Amino acid sequence: MSGIRGRNTKPEILVRSLLHREGFRFRLHARELPGKPDIVLPRYRAVIFVHGCFWHGHDCHLYRLPATRPGFWQDKIDRNRASDRWARDTLLAAGWRVAVVWECALRGVGADVGQVAQRLAVWLRSDEKETGIRK
Ligand SMILES: [Zn+2]
Repeated sequence: MSGIRGRNTKPEILVRSLLHREGFRFRLHARELPGKPDIVLPRYRAVIFVHGCFWHGHDCHLYRLPATRPGFWQDKIDRNRASDRWARDTLLAAGWRVAVVWECALRGVGADVGQVAQRLAVWLRSDEKETGIRK
């Protein structure tokens, strides 16, 4: 194992590593929670979702409907978005704090994973209910 900045490391894993290095302890993929959040920090009563911009229909440059069967994809993505909203509402109602990190903040030109982790760290230590991090 050589550091956490390997070029091939997936950005979401990098986020976890950076949070871990900041001293945060968490669980992964909590199946019993709505939406199965990617990272759960019970001590901060916080969950973090890392959302792919295509699958979750983000209004950014990474989301573009395929030319073939656009109706099929639109339906699928609409269902994902509805389920994201349900998970968010249910978690907030149960007293969880909810962060969404969008793929576009983690990949491509200008993406800064270290800065994303920093913003998450600040949010975790705050009492804000919700945050979204995007490009
Ligand atoms: Zn995006």
